Amino acid sequence: MYKTEGIVLRTRNLGEADKVVTLYTKTHGKVAAAARGSRRVRNRLLGVTQIFTHGRYLLFEGKSLDSLSQGEILHSFQPLRDDLDTMAQAMYITELVDVFVEESEPHVEIFHLLLQTLQSHTEDLFVLAVRAFELRLMAHLGYQPQLELCLNCGCMPEQELVFSREGGILCSDCRTEYPQALPLSRGTWQLMQRLLFSDWRRLFVLRPSPQHLQELQACLRQYIDFRLERPLRSLGFLTDLQVF
Ligand SMILES: [Zn+2]
Repeated sequence: MYKTEGIVLRTRNLGEADKVVTLYTKTHGKVAAAARGSRRVRNRLLGVTQIFTHGRYLLFEGKSLDSLSQGEILHSFQPLRDDLDTMAQAMYITELVDVFVEESEPHVEIFHLLLQTLQSHTEDLFVLAVRAFELRLMAHLGYQPQLELCLNCGCMPEQELVFSREGGILCSDCRTEYPQALPLSRGTWQLMQRLLFSDWRRLFVLRPSPQHLQELQACLRQYIDFRLERPLRSLGFLTDLQVF
């Protein structure tokens, strides 16, 4: 038996009234647990097993699947489920955690990053938090982009830059060897630095232009997709809503 703080990454139905809940926990990493009866209206697990919920959970270890016996809500994040745009963004970030982390490998920085990003849904520019999340998640996973020196030759580029999906900038001499690399203006480069290294609260005083945001999003899309084994399900949803 163990007690831990966690965030619901996804759920799937099991049988008539049960659910399997995938939690990203602070102390045990990603765990899948059966929540018996949690689809019944009056069940005490109904609220704590909603997607995106942050709570304290009591779990029992099982052979193939743990079971969730009790939970207490810390943040229900109901507004994330009420609005289609924020829901799509939240589904995207929880799916990223789900596909990139291994089961039972705790990573407290990633847990805090996910929680902090979900909490930022009330900010005007939630999308900026999502971009910062992408960059910081990649950094925590060991793929921090190289933004100072050319990825290929190691020089310090002074002219126009491009960004390669391998994870960094390239100088004008090396760019021809990376035909898929995307243009990266100085403004977007600066924005990327800030999203990676600034104090989280200071992100929301930034007012990036739509053009910089678009450029950044394109670079990060290629960069993340390059590390994925299969396409993300939530991307189709985001594209349909045209929030991407
Ligand atoms: Zn170079």
